[in-house]
Amino acid sequence: MTRSTVCRAWLAASAIAGLLAPSTTRAQAAPVQPPADLIVTNARIYTVDDSRPLAAAMAIRGGRIAFVGDARGAMTMRGAQTRVVDLGGRTVIPGMMDAHGHVAGLGDALAIVDLVGSTSVDDVVARVAARAKGQGAGQWIQGRGWDQNRWGDTRFPTHDKLSAALPDHPVVLTRVDGHAVYANRKAMDLAGITAATKDPDGGQIIRDASGAPTGVFIDNAMGLVRRAVPAQTRDEVRRNVQAAIADAHRWGLTGVHDAGASETVLDVYDELGRTGQMNFRMYAMISGGRTESAAVDRLIARGPVIGAHNGTLWVRSIKLYSDGALGSRGAALLDPYSDDVKNSGLLVSDPAFIKAISVKALKAGFQVNTHAIGDRGNRVTLDAFEAALKEVPVADHRFRVEHAQIINYADIPRFAQLGVIPSMQASHQTSDMYWAGARLGQHRLPGAYAWRSLLNSGVVIPNGSDFPVEYVNPLISFHAAISRQDANDFPAGGWFPEQIMTREEALKSMTIWPAYAGFQERELGSLTPGKHADFVVLDQDIMQVPASLVLKTRVISTWVAGRAVYEAGGRTP
Ligand SMILES: [Zn+2]
Repeated sequence: MTRSTVCRAWLAASAIAGLLAPSTTRAQAAPVQPPADLIVTNARIYTVDDSRPLAAAMAIRGGRIAFVGDARGAMTMRGAQTRVVDLGGRTVIPGMMDAHGHVAGLGDALAIVDLVGSTSVDDVVARVAARAKGQGAGQWIQGRGWDQNRWGDTRFPTHDKLSAALPDHPVVLTRVDGHAVYANRKAMDLAGITAATKDPDGGQIIRDASGAPTGVFIDNAMGLVRRAVPAQTRDEVRRNVQAAIADAHRWGLTGVHDAGASETVLDVYDELGRTGQMNFRMYAMISGGRTESAAVDRLIARGPVIGAHNGTLWVRSIKLYSDGALGSRGAALLDPYSDDVKNSGLLVSDPAFIKAISVKALKAGFQVNTHAIGDRGNRVTLDAFEAALKEVPVADHRFRVEHAQIINYADIPRFAQLGVIPSMQASHQTSDMYWAGARLGQHRLPGAYAWRSLLNSGVVIPNGSDFPVEYVNPLISFHAAISRQDANDFPAGGWFPEQIMTREEALKSMTIWPAYAGFQERELGSLTPGKHADFVVLDQDIMQVPASLVLKTRVISTWVAGRAVYEAGGRTP
């Protein structure tokens, strides 16, 4: 459909709605309802509400949407105190929700040395050394974001250069995917790591020919170094969380599904909610760990938290892990890696543990969201969910597999059959496509990032970024979803383009489908009267511009509960 036919159809629909809607007529005769706080007019509003996909105006009262339709209808709700904002034809979409991000991780990333985009070990060392200048000897320096797959030499780095440049500061640098750390000599010494240190279950210490650790620790081995890092103070945690939320607002996010929050972070969320400082929809997954723990049992016993503090906090899900990540070859595969034939990846939890937590969760009204990247990781997770559901049949459980990146083709229909939601991050496809073929072999690629195959099987796909693994900007995943191309339009036509989402699906994957995946679809995810008034104003129409221009879109303002939480340049529109 062209732009003009859309407009005509839209005007006709609005006119009919205006004639028929009894509430409009009543409002004109005698306003019985209190006036709106805010009226937005002259906008191109994509509501993500199938009963009225497009509108030109909306009215907001008490933090909720009171009216969606045309300007005439909205203006009947104008009162003396009503703020009216003319958006000059700009595009409005529902507030975007990232269904899988790491809020404290982002906050920490904003506070530590940013290694994203580093081009070599030397670049990493230089960035860390620059930070160390302002810090006394002995102070820990942390960083995150290195990715040796982007370097000229794609082998894991070794500690020598880092140790030589930073002899007095312990340094721990987390890989971009969070599944490996790179440490210097000082950090390893403080952690008591020697050639005699054994690999833990589900983890690996990279060693040289003599057996000495080279400085890289994979998956469960990361804890060997990290346990030496002093714990953050609660003030630091709160500061970092608030910085992360402010950053999310900048990119048009009004909510996040936090993929694994510690008890301290959950406590900080509750404090922010109680004190009216949580201007965000925080869907926090309890960090479930890899073995039974008293902390998780305590949180389950407390019962689910649903829309607490004016609909700003949900704690009703548990995050588990079945395997590692593809970039560090920790993702568990059914057959060995094509570029490392002795390695099939790692299961980081006992599948019996995933089943046991799932049974507890089903009994207590919690959802389970399990990280699974490899085809084996996905299969054992589906098996564990299936076994738990057999024991405790709950119809509307909405259990999720986080990532669901590489799925054996035979397992794709099992998601719909079991009612399991694949929670995927489109940006991973465009980040991984350069090397995924070498790592997985062509035969496994049809089940990789297989959005269309999954959608066709009858599931929805909540989209996300996995920040700080990827950038926060949710339009990167929107763009990847509709093009399967990177920011430079590579490859031509898209990588396995048969798996592309339509724009309507991609928009749903950032709005109503995350809401569904969080049991929030009656409150959030579309611009529908009665729902929370969370929306974003964009400087161009992402549903119409060529895909290659989507990443040029700027967020003009972000609104939560009808209040601007971010305004570009400090002003609206
Ligand atoms: Zn994650």
